[in-house]
Amino acid sequence: MNLVARDQKVIWHPYTQMKNALTPISITHGEGVYLYAEDGKKYIDAVSSWWVTIHGHAHPHIAQKVAKQLQTLEHVIFAGFTHEPAVTLAERLLPLLPGQQEKAFYSDNGSTAVEVALKMCLQYWNNKGNTTKKKVLAFKDAYHGDTFGAMSVSGRSIFTNPFAELLFDVEFIDLPTAENISNLQSKISNLKSELACFIFEPLILGAGGMLMYEAKYLDQLLAACTENEVLTIADEVMTGFGRTGTFFASEQLSNRPDIFCLSKGLTGGTMPMGLTTCNAKIFEAFLSEDKLKTLYHGHSFTANPVACAASLASLDILLEPATLANIKRVEAQHRQFFEQIKGHPKLRNVRQTGTIIALEWETGNDTSYLSGLRDRLYTYFLTKGIILRPLGNIIYILPPYVISNDDLAYIYRTIQQALDEI
Ligand SMILES: *Cc1c(COP(=O)(O)O)cnc(C)c1O
Repeated sequence: MNLVARDQKVIWHPYTQMKNALTPISITHGEGVYLYAEDGKKYIDAVSSWWVTIHGHAHPHIAQKVAKQLQTLEHVIFAGFTHEPAVTLAERLLPLLPGQQEKAFYSDNGSTAVEVALKMCLQYWNNKGNTTKKKVLAFKDAYHGDTFGAMSVSGRSIFTNPFAELLFDVEFIDLPTAENISNLQSKISNLKSELACFIFEPLILGAGGMLMYEAKYLDQLLAACTENEVLTIADEVMTGFGRTGTFFASEQLSNRPDIFCLSKGLTGGTMPMGLTTCNAKIFEAFLSEDKLKTLYHGHSFTANPVACAASLASLDILLEPATLANIKRVEAQHRQFFEQIKGHPKLRNVRQTGTIIALEWETGNDTSYLSGLRDRLYTYFLTKGIILRPLGNIIYILPPYVISNDDLAYIYRTIQQALDEI
């Protein structure tokens, strides 16, 4: 049996209706922005393999550091024990985060980083003896992950429907604009006694459709939160590590979040790892003689040394001047394409933030994720050797920073062809 036949016998793929799924493409190896399939075909990974592979595939520096760590210490229980990679990573990362972040709490992925952040905030008020601040504020189209807490604070959609009644109650708001900002601020002030925290994806809502909004209005929301004692959580799982043009998207704000959630690009996309950081205010609310004030949370693989080593290696690469130059280059290429393609009659909207550009197809009234357009576009680009996974009628490019101008030009050209042909 070939690999695909073996796969179909034993594997259940994510986000996939297995009854009529396309046959999966078997990838044998990767290098830089390219993925190589068993049949000899080469693909440009234009979505950084679900937004994680920021430096390209099989990066030699990360591979070398991971291999070395594997031969030294592969894992150790992280309660009562510590190790060099976990401490060094926290020491190097915390000062880079905007907002006087003082403590790092490790977990395994973006969803768990969000769960930890929510627990920190909800228990913060509990530890303070406040029994009314229990509600979370979030954006209507937010995406914060697939575990139950993370799903609860994400927008309600076809993905959450089967669990709707089990998700906890959240106060959802629209993205802030010049028109609604004062209403949103009043809402926060009116709900002051109920709101424990506000969780948000800064500058761009990823899975919700690459929806972009201005730092200026987010700043005004955060100011209202601070004024009304609502804790703030920046979910930078997607936006972190250069994606929006700055090291963290929150650098583009003047208000400082209390908590950050990181994952995806953290290990350079090498392996799973989540990180929740907080400032002294949060941490100190858990310091007590009273054991009930402890943060009782942990995972078997908390602070896995190999994942920490991968993160440290990824950080080395990120801090090289060449990486920032690449980020600025991708940003400038996207900007040129934006200027060229905006106003195209088949596009409802084109938007760009940093290294992400999103194009929204005009579909009349049919905008559902399940519409045939999404599958047609997906297959069209695969045929052309490009991995793009449209979110419904929204195509976006979110590439590894090392992508060449030639490969970007090829993707832009192919999108233009798709506009002509589909
Ligand atoms: C992907 C994502 C998550 C969830 O991360 P997983 O590692 O997939 O669990 C959370 N928040 C944001 C903003 C994300 O983009």
